[in-house]
Amino acid sequence: MAAVDSDIEPLPRGGFRCCLCHITTANRPSLDAHLGGRKHRHLEELRATRKAQGLRSVFVSGFPRDVGSAQLSEYFQAFGPVASVVMDKDKGVFAIVEMGDLGAREAVLSQPQHSLGGHRLRVRPREQKEFQSPASRSPKRVAPDSHQLIKALAEAPDVEAQMVKLVGLRELSEAERQLRSLVVALMQEVFSEFFPGCVVHPFGSSINSFDVHGCDLDLFLDLGDLDEPQPAPKAPESPSLDSALASPLDPQALACTPASPPDSQPPASPQDSEALDFEAPSSSLAPRTPDSALASETLASPQSLPPASPLQEDQGEGDLGKAVELAEALKREKAEGGAMLELVGSILRGCVPGVYRVQTVPSARRPVVKFCHRPSGLHGDVSLSNRLALHNSRFLSLCSELDGRVRPLVYTLRCWAQGQGLSGSGPLLNNYALTLLVIYFLQTRDPPVLPTVSQLTQKAGEGEQVEVDGWDCSFPRDASRLEPSTNKEPLSSLLAQFFSCVSCWDLRGSLLSLREGQALPVAEGLPSNLSEGLRLGPMNLQDPFDLSHNVAANVTSRVAGRLQNCCRAAANYCRSLQYQRRSSRGRDWGLLPLLQPSSPSSMLSATPIPLPPASFTQLTAALAQVLREALGCHIEQGTKRLWSEGGGPGEPPQGGTSKRAKLDGQKKSCEEGSEEQQGCAGEHGEDGVEEMVIEVGESGQDWAMQSPGQPGELPLMTGKHLATREEGQSGTEALAEQGPRGPEAACKGSQAEAEKRVSLSVSWRCALWHRVWQGRRRARRRLQQQIKEGGGAGAGSGAEWLATEARVTRELRGLSSTEQRPEAEPLLTFVASASQAGQSLTVTPLQDSQGLFPDLHHFLQVFLPQALRNLLK
Ligand code: ATP
Ligand code: MG
Repeated sequence: MAAVDSDIEPLPRGGFRCCLCHITTANRPSLDAHLGGRKHRHLEELRATRKAQGLRSVFVSGFPRDVGSAQLSEYFQAFGPVASVVMDKDKGVFAIVEMGDLGAREAVLSQPQHSLGGHRLRVRPREQKEFQSPASRSPKRVAPDSHQLIKALAEAPDVEAQMVKLVGLRELSEAERQLRSLVVALMQEVFSEFFPGCVVHPFGSSINSFDVHGCDLDLFLDLGDLDEPQPAPKAPESPSLDSALASPLDPQALACTPASPPDSQPPASPQDSEALDFEAPSSSLAPRTPDSALASETLASPQSLPPASPLQEDQGEGDLGKAVELAEALKREKAEGGAMLELVGSILRGCVPGVYRVQTVPSARRPVVKFCHRPSGLHGDVSLSNRLALHNSRFLSLCSELDGRVRPLVYTLRCWAQGQGLSGSGPLLNNYALTLLVIYFLQTRDPPVLPTVSQLTQKAGEGEQVEVDGWDCSFPRDASRLEPSTNKEPLSSLLAQFFSCVSCWDLRGSLLSLREGQALPVAEGLPSNLSEGLRLGPMNLQDPFDLSHNVAANVTSRVAGRLQNCCRAAANYCRSLQYQRRSSRGRDWGLLPLLQPSSPSSMLSATPIPLPPASFTQLTAALAQVLREALGCHIEQGTKRLWSEGGGPGEPPQGGTSKRAKLDGQKKSCEEGSEEQQGCAGEHGEDGVEEMVIEVGESGQDWAMQSPGQPGELPLMTGKHLATREEGQSGTEALAEQGPRGPEAACKGSQAEAEKRVSLSVSWRCALWHRVWQGRRRARRRLQQQIKEGGGAGAGSGAEWLATEARVTRELRGLSSTEQRPEAEPLLTFVASASQAGQSLTVTPLQDSQGLFPDLHHFLQVFLPQALRNLLK
């Protein structure tokens, strides 16, 4: 093989990757052809030339700004021939001097001190780092706007191709990666001045293979073991930091800047050296060779970079003083976490050019310093205590390497969840948790797409046995050593199955364990070795390594409910032809409806309103009363029936027939077990028409219980089914087409469990003629005042409360007690569905020409739980 072995990485399924040229070949003969080709040979020569140049070069700083390359050349000629002088053009504070031969360079470096025009020069060897091929050859890509994205996806031949295309459109370009690596190199340079031997490691999406344009830059500043005797943080030596302060991000200046000072030692602890081997070849943000930056034409030129504001630079000088003071103080005392975080904040603020909006967040589970970097447009966090993150980032990257379907699936689901308002900060799932959910799903396929963490641990080789903070983080670093999965499901089917499965998993009642690759029932008591310290909640997803950590502990029941509702709607959509086939009429198809951001109304319709504890019979009776009597809704009659929660494949609904014959006989998939929703992305049929199946007028046998509320006034069963009329195929046919790989087959594991539970879902179709929420509180106060003045009793009992609310509504409608709906058309119609399993109500708009639904939903969220408590007391 012409190339050195380290250039070539074997891939699963017989392929190879040439890390020098960033290309992948399918097999050995194509690899050999590539290695003998012009591109590869040229890059090899370039690398050799750059290496030789690097070995002859020195890095020089500390000269006055008016010194030019001619003067520097003249000065260094005293030591031997000078081949070239490359100046930092923007600020004139750095230079790389390439000597004509190694002897001349040695002569320069062996002189203890250099001075030019009365200024002491700082002369250091130029650091040799890994060669990166010039990025100029790869086309510069920018984040596609949504229009471009939609167009590109619409043109793909099938869903699988859409998913793969989505990755290509969203992932970082080579130039963006290089820009990140320059920022990391800059941080490394600056922090090394204060903490010799420290290492700045990127983690998270920068290295876990799930990068997208503009994703944050998560950094771990590894100071080694703070409990061990440390070299005291040292104050920066001028002029290196002066220069850094003076310069905004300048690729060339950065290129001239060694990543660590010559006196810095490589990390000594096993943890440190272990952490170092994490830099993934393709997405690594390890500080890169100056050569690559110098060679890169795609990086922003100094001129194109916005300058740091003078204000910021002034502030920076102040912070530098503070940082030096802090560093001095820390020299005297043992550094404490909070003080160290402050110091890192001050260094970032004062010493890293272009950094602004620095904010320490000491109260976070993992304290961080947040920052933005103006020239690169990046933002990110620096943490001091997150070694585990390096390992879990590497684990995610390993999962991607293990199976080519992982990246398209995760990219698609991250994009979908973002559009649905399901992922983000606060009570939402963060991207890490969402990615683990997808990996868990892939572990639980039959046969599995990914191995469990336990299986991976067993396969870890000798050098891969790692323990961090007491947690076993051993797994093979090389994906090619593991057997590829025998699961061959197409991506489109895996996506549909994901939605289907998540919609029926028991998120509260079980712990999803990636280590075991199974759901452990919470009620039965979790094995202590697998769960000690876990904070259980509405959604329980265990970290693959820190087993005491529920990565979804922040998720509220409302968000967990919405996640399942959105998944249910998406699973329904995935059964339609619109998902499965490219539209011949240029309409949205496949992924497109799924990825469109949902409207506020559809997000609300997926948000369940929690109901107070009571029997389901009582609740539904009370709900009907509140809707009809207290709020003056017209409720259409319907039926209620038993559902098998998670209903088995092919199991028909118990009783009830659909008004739409074409949906008759439809197989029930697991997500049909509970109430069905509109409102998530994917609800629009090919014609943009939603089909709501309303089942009415069923016989008495459909009733598992006596009708709540008044006899004869029955709630409606509703169910949303998407069917396309394109190409003349019915929804049933579309479903049938899905065959054994459809969502029905997806939930095997949880289905058996789910089938044991029988649950009710009850729905009503409601019509409202007035904004009964507007001014309601005032009207109620007025009424209560009148009642009081008239000597009447307050709303003590449930019946009294109901009577009061009914009067409030009548007043708001401007009606006398006997009048009924004068208006022909209702203001708003909606479906309210109560789910026994979720003990919640979901409300979905049907007709809302004035866009009033969000107001109604906000009102019901507060009003209904309180109303039910009053009525049921
Ligand atoms: P993006 O930044 O694009 O949202 P990401 O892949 O970087 O995506 P983040 O959610 O930012 O994902 O998480 C970054 C890293 O922080 C993860 O790889 C993980 O190491 C750590 N992390 C994030 N959230 C958690 C969590 N809930 N529990 C444990 N570690 C977490
Ligand atoms: Mg991140």
